Amino acid sequence: MTARAGYQASRSAPDSVVAALGAPACPDAGCLTRPGDLAEGCAALLAALPYPAALLGDAGESIAVLGANEEFRRFADELESSTPPPGEARPGRSFDWRVRARAMFAARRASDRFELEFAGRLGARVFSCAMTWVEDAGGEKTLLLTATDRTSERKAESTLRKELLTDSLTSLPNRVGFVEQIEALVEERKALPQKTGHAIIALDLIRFSRINESLGAMAGDELIITVARRVKSVLRAGDVLARIGGNEFAIFAQINHGLSELLQIADRVRKTFETPIRLSNYLISVEVALGCALAPDDDDDDMETLLRQAQAAVKRAKKSGTLEVYRAHVLREALKRFTLENRLREAIEQGALTMAFQPLVDLQTGAVKGFEALARWEDPVIGHVSPVDFIPVAEESGLIVPLGRWAMCECAQTLADWDRRYGELMPVTMNVNLSPVQMVRDNVPRAVEEALRYAGIDGNRVSIELTESALISDPDKTRQLLGALQAMDVTVAMDDFGTGFSNLASLQSLPIDVLKIDRSFVVDMIGDEDKVAIIRAIVSLAGALGMETTAEGIETREQAAALAQLGCTYGQGYHFARPLPPLDAYRYWVARSSETII
Ligand code: C2E
Ligand code: MG
Ligand code: MG
Repeated sequence: MTARAGYQASRSAPDSVVAALGAPACPDAGCLTRPGDLAEGCAALLAALPYPAALLGDAGESIAVLGANEEFRRFADELESSTPPPGEARPGRSFDWRVRARAMFAARRASDRFELEFAGRLGARVFSCAMTWVEDAGGEKTLLLTATDRTSERKAESTLRKELLTDSLTSLPNRVGFVEQIEALVEERKALPQKTGHAIIALDLIRFSRINESLGAMAGDELIITVARRVKSVLRAGDVLARIGGNEFAIFAQINHGLSELLQIADRVRKTFETPIRLSNYLISVEVALGCALAPDDDDDDMETLLRQAQAAVKRAKKSGTLEVYRAHVLREALKRFTLENRLREAIEQGALTMAFQPLVDLQTGAVKGFEALARWEDPVIGHVSPVDFIPVAEESGLIVPLGRWAMCECAQTLADWDRRYGELMPVTMNVNLSPVQMVRDNVPRAVEEALRYAGIDGNRVSIELTESALISDPDKTRQLLGALQAMDVTVAMDDFGTGFSNLASLQSLPIDVLKIDRSFVVDMIGDEDKVAIIRAIVSLAGALGMETTAEGIETREQAAALAQLGCTYGQGYHFARPLPPLDAYRYWVARSSETII
């Protein structure tokens, strides 16, 4: 019966090869439908019994194995007492039919189905297997194993699947492929120790159908391919680009620095379309609408929703003509800004802002050389607001102009008050921050001149702090402004130096007196060779250009000493004093004017 069962099985599945396990119990071999295959399969099976991977890897379409009972029992006993040969185990796969046989044998189950994967000579081979106990009239049990080669089916399935997930024109993922891919990415990243955010940027080509209509579908296809290439060229490794519709693309980006990083990526994408695309004899200016959606938190993994949000933003971008960020997020932000802006306007009008003054100390002598004026805002409703938060709102809303003018007047007035209190001119200078937005919108020389005149203060007692961005945005205007300030004897300091992208040539040609070394270089400088090297380079650059240096954010005695040793002229930071109210600052100067505290 046992051999017959195998024989029958082979008939019903003509591609099967049937082998009898356990020589010489292979009596029916000659009766089989495909003796050639049998001979090969049987011989290979028997020879490779301890290593079935080798056997199946080389076998034909399928194999059926009939276990002779006695032989099998011995085999099963052997299995029970042995462990799988090393190197055969593959996680997640039924790697060894003997192990399955043992499990089935132990559990007294009648049958089992599983899949085997082997590395064959021509790559991975997949077999779909079934095991069954076959019982003859005498109650003798034998094991029947059928292994059918599914390799080509699996290959076809995977090719088909790839095709289903890919846009054939650009070879980018399509919408389904995109969502599947980015869901897997987000899942993978969840396991990483450092948390990151993510966002989707949706991009629509505007009036794309016109290209198809006027130049033909081939030209349209070419345009799509070029667009895909251009966008891809400005993305970072790890970003995913997809074509999610006829004229729609989507970008998945990992975001570590919030909205500003996302906007930077979107801007890079937008800029890539500034150059027209050439299609045969035509130069086509491609217009795109961009919409972004930032996942609300790190663990948010609903990529379908995020994609829909980005598409909703793109819809609005088509109307507004500018980049749009998904509304819920934008609304929250806008509402916050709106409240802040209204409260700030009120605070400026009612004179509710105050100034704090932080000493600037000569690092060689310890003498207080001057103060930096820093705006402070304590709102009765929303509480303390940092300048880091309200200066950008002031810049965006235009409130920076009245704020900046107020700051200038307040500084000049404070100096005049201190002089009165001191009884003569106090030998200190006052640094005032000037926003690049005010430089563009206001007549700064006039505002400075009026403030000085009104308070009766000489220009040489005031220093204006500019940021590097002011040099970049409008170099000519900056040159004019600095010339006008120089004419009033007002000195100029370059704030947060080292964080921007100063053009060294313009630095040399502009009348700048002091480079303020950004706090980020000072903060961990002790023991950090790179930071020390940067500070040394800035100090030597300043020296070469005839400028002085002020180190910002000094918090420890060691930093002050190290900076003094590096030749830095002045220092500012919590180690000396926090920004102080006007009277405290005056008293600080009086108390320290004769001491050295470094
Ligand atoms: P900034 O001009 O670079 O001012 C230095 C900032 O560093 C101040 O922050 C100061 O409090 C802080 N700081 C000083 N020493 C230390 C230190 O040892 N450790 C640490 N961690 N921080 C230190 P603040 O007052 O929050 O001001 C932030 C920024 O806001 C300023 O940076 C400036 O760019 C802007 N700002 C402040 N007041 C005005 C203003 O009246 N007009 C304009 N346009 N901008 C202003
Ligand atoms: Mg400053
Ligand atoms: Mg600074």
